[in-house]
Amino acid sequence: MTLPDLDALDFDKGGGLLPAVVQDVHTGAVLMLGYMNREALAATRARRRVVFWSRSKQRLWEKGETSGNHLELVDLVADCDRDTLLVLADPHGPACHLGTRTCFGEGPQSRVEPLGFLARLESVIAQRAAQTPEQSYTARLIAEGPRRLAQKVGEEGVEVALAGVGGSDAEVLSESADLLFHLLVLLRSRGLRLDQVVSELASRHRP
Ligand SMILES: [Zn+2]
Repeated sequence: MTLPDLDALDFDKGGGLLPAVVQDVHTGAVLMLGYMNREALAATRARRRVVFWSRSKQRLWEKGETSGNHLELVDLVADCDRDTLLVLADPHGPACHLGTRTCFGEGPQSRVEPLGFLARLESVIAQRAAQTPEQSYTARLIAEGPRRLAQKVGEEGVEVALAGVGGSDAEVLSESADLLFHLLVLLRSRGLRLDQVVSELASRHRP
């Protein structure tokens, strides 16, 4: 974690408070905006949960203290002027007190955000992989060994190809989803992650 030096932050500009933008570390969604004074920032670091200074309550307020929907701290950085914080968090439950995923509503905020679900799916696959083959399809696939898994990826790849030639768009989408899922399971079975695949792709397209 790259925690900014408390003394280097400019609390004076905002009367002792820094705006803190909270972003979902998995999806990149902007969840909410809160304010932190020195105390709130120190508490956030110590508790590993996001703690704000509530301007309405005039006290420290740990997000989720009554609802249970807390924000687990993953990383925290200051901006170029050192007067605004960006908090990366793992949200436990809806971020907004109105019950929506973010304080800016329910829907995705960017075209990139739905792709963030792949990271979420990856962690679900990791959880399933730890279950018994009787409990989970994913665990069963992995237990059957690399040959079976490779065969599944091959089959799904062929199904995407066939849909691509003569199928409807709905079939292409559905088969592509199957392929992606099985590819993620294959990666998981070898201890590899999707972001490593994306880095490989990115390295090929550097100008
Ligand atoms: Zn809200």
